[in-house]
Amino acid sequence: MLKNITFETSVFSIDKIIQTDKKQIALVGKSNVGKSSFINAIANHKHLAKVGNTPGKTRSLNYYNVNEEYYIVDLPGYGYSKMSQGEKQNTTNLVDKYLSSNMVTHIFFLVDIRHSATNEDKLMYDYLLSYDIPFTIIANKADKLPKTKIEDHLFDLTKTLFCKELILPFSSENKLNLDIVKEQIESLTE
Ligand code: GDP
Repeated sequence: MLKNITFETSVFSIDKIIQTDKKQIALVGKSNVGKSSFINAIANHKHLAKVGNTPGKTRSLNYYNVNEEYYIVDLPGYGYSKMSQGEKQNTTNLVDKYLSSNMVTHIFFLVDIRHSATNEDKLMYDYLLSYDIPFTIIANKADKLPKTKIEDHLFDLTKTLFCKELILPFSSENKLNLDIVKEQIESLTE
């Protein structure tokens, strides 16, 4: 059960990652796609994860402890324009090393349902294929589209990512498919 979610720590370098036997579920996606809001929605808590552009947050792995049983780890968002080239390289290395560390059991990859996949989304998708970690693609902010447009936008994302997987429309705002995601997380962590 997603009962008791608490923020545990932020980690800025790979030598500080939490060494644990607990399962870890990672969230990836570009800055502002809604990863913090996703955590708040599944935790049913408005302010657990800080929503909006907070530069520190975008550089660290942010660990959320669920029921002392497993972790949900929010990874640095890519495409954050205010980051220097050096900072971008550091965060890319941190994400890459963390996802290569065999610690992550599942990844939720968030994209914005309103727009075609960006080059960086495509790059992330290609990375995900190479890690050999099961993942789910979530098209967030579905509340911003009329219901009749959702299918077209999912099709466009599928085309622009060149992906085979189904993409789940989602909204932290109006809770579209929140139950499905919560059930999935529960089954992944049983
Ligand atoms: P992060 O950078 O990926 O952690 O993104 P945030 O969770 O901080 O969200 C960035 C902005 O998008 C904020 O203004 C949120 O309120 C907004 N947002 C996030 N998810 C949704 C959603 O499902 N629907 C709508 N309408 N806005 C969202």
